[in-house]
Amino acid sequence: MLRLPTAPNELRDEPSNRLGLDFAAEAARFPSLGYGIIDIHSHINGTEASAVWAPIARAYGVEKTFSMSRLEDVPMLRERFGESIEFIAVPDWYAKDKRVGHGTDYLARIEKFRELGCRIVKFWNAPRFIDFGVEAGDKDMLALDGALRIEQMKLAERLGMICMTHVADPDTWFEAKYTDTAKYGRKLDHYTPLRKALDRFTMPWIAAHMGGFPEDLGFLDTLLEAHPNLHLDTSATKWMVRELGRHSRSEILGFLERWRGRILFGTDTVTTDEHLREGDKSSEMGKKATSREGANDLYASRYWALRMMWEGSGEVTSPISDPDLAMVAPDKHGPLDGPMLRGLDLPPDLLRVLYRDATLALLARA
Ligand SMILES: [Zn+2]
Repeated sequence: MLRLPTAPNELRDEPSNRLGLDFAAEAARFPSLGYGIIDIHSHINGTEASAVWAPIARAYGVEKTFSMSRLEDVPMLRERFGESIEFIAVPDWYAKDKRVGHGTDYLARIEKFRELGCRIVKFWNAPRFIDFGVEAGDKDMLALDGALRIEQMKLAERLGMICMTHVADPDTWFEAKYTDTAKYGRKLDHYTPLRKALDRFTMPWIAAHMGGFPEDLGFLDTLLEAHPNLHLDTSATKWMVRELGRHSRSEILGFLERWRGRILFGTDTVTTDEHLREGDKSSEMGKKATSREGANDLYASRYWALRMMWEGSGEVTSPISDPDLAMVAPDKHGPLDGPMLRGLDLPPDLLRVLYRDATLALLARA
């Protein structure tokens, strides 16, 4: 049995390692599964950072990782990591002209990704897509039911690809960040375009981060029931640990049993060379680590927490700080606090479907 550790008396002020764990030693504590885990959702980038990441993923039992990497980095990553990495088509986020970058250039990139053997295409539609649209002069530019997206979905259909999308965001963000509802809509509004896409484009779909709604398993039941081509991935560690931790073990087990084969394990691991150095960073993500050791904890803590949640028993405060707690309840939490990490101790056969078999079956259909 895999027991969650007890928290030390003093928690550390380290957002990726509050418990002071030795993540390399911890990796050895996990039972050997007898099969490799497949991570359906990650963002592996950077020459140095990917070299830090790969042995950690291996140590935590991950055999294959699907990554949203820059098209330009695909040959390098493939040469280094061979069969253990596959790619998910993404646009050029750094394109100066957003309309071109997310429009015609993305269409061309999808074709190139496909030529390189890629089987999944990503349509990022978190509410911040509206900010991108505003910047490009058209608020609805990236809407899932907009002309640009429809053209991309038609191409994906022609190329025989699976679609992955990120719709909505945590309830906490709608509570504290997207308060301008005239601009961002309400959380449920984001599911109308998704439902339309799922009906019109019948290829398999993966809605990331438990479909954006780990808060409400009943809502996900309705969505999965109405759309047989829909699958969910379990990626985004802080979000999943916090929100799945609010449901009882039997609710989550019931959900996973009901939707066996349609829930896919993912991590949302993000690696970038910015994690290995100090100084000015281009993104919030880049600020999450400033050294090789920091990057090591950042990457390893996600595998540790997710595997502990699915396989472990007992509970411990999460080793990962979750700033959303303080964002919605500043009177109760500090920015370094973390939620309770609750072990779900999944039965071995259900664990295997989640970790591996569901993704293999899905890919076999593509
Ligand atoms: Zn992601």
